[in-house]
This record gives sequence, C-alpha cells and structure tokens, in this order.
Amino acid sequence: MQNDDRCLFCRVVAGTIPAKKLFEDDDVIAFEDINPQAPTHLLVIPRRHIASLDALLPEHSETIGRLLIRASEIARSRHIASDGYRLVFNNGQSAGQTVFHIHAHLLGGRDFSWPPG
Ligand code: 5GP
Ligand code: ZN
Repeated sequence: MQNDDRCLFCRVVAGTIPAKKLFEDDDVIAFEDINPQAPTHLLVIPRRHIASLDALLPEHSETIGRLLIRASEIARSRHIASDGYRLVFNNGQSAGQTVFHIHAHLLGGRDFSWPPG
C-alpha cells in the first residue's frame, strides 16, 4: 500500500498532523510519543506505509534495516544506549498495536522489567 491519508502516521510523515520530530531523513522519521511510557519514548517509523511486522515482505529489507540502524543511532545520541533501552514492535491486537503503520517504540531512561506486561 502507498502512503495513505487515512493513516495517522502517514499524516505525520506528510506533516498534516503535528509531531515533535527528533530526526528525519529520506527513509525514517522519529518523533515523541504523545503518551510517553518512559523518560525517553520515541516512535521510529518508515516514511513508506507498511501496516505491521506481519505485512513485511523481502522488498522491505532495506527500509527496515535502515530504521533499525537509525533507532540505534538515535539511542546513542539521546544518551540512553549505555544504560540500556528497549526497541519494541507491537504486532496485532493481542500485542496492543493500535496504529497500523509499522513503528518501533524506542524506550529508555528507566529500568524495564522482564517478561513484559
Ligand atoms: P501501538 O499501540 O500501535 O504499538 O503504538 C501507537 C503509539 O502511538 C502509542 O504509544 C500512542 O501513544 C502513540 N500515538 C497515538 N496517536 C498519536 C499521535 O497523534 N501523535 C503521537 N506523537 N503519538 C501518537
Ligand atoms: Zn501509514
């Protein structure tokens, strides 16, 4: 599917919904989650619309690889990498996915328990 103006995060990409953007390049945007669950809680998304992990195809390899590398760079630049952080993809209803434009939650600045809730 191409970028879709009914998709919340496609609208963030297009700039029609405001977001506190921390980073953007040709492939990836990172912005603050509106309901943060940790001192640092960013959403790292591809510009390209992909609904979820479950929708990934081999042709998305480069996009997702770049997203992961960017997330790790952002974690270092936000000084959360040395203490440790979480990168979370919720997939589907039982995992709590509410926005169906793939996104990584980059969470840091506190300790996290395991197993996750
Ligand atoms: P999910 O539940 O799909 O894994 O994550 C969606 C995330 O998007 C949630 O953490 C939620 O707080 C965040 N979110 C929902 N609507 C908005 C919005 O309009 N702006 C921003 N910045 N975050 C949003
Ligand atoms: Zn989208």
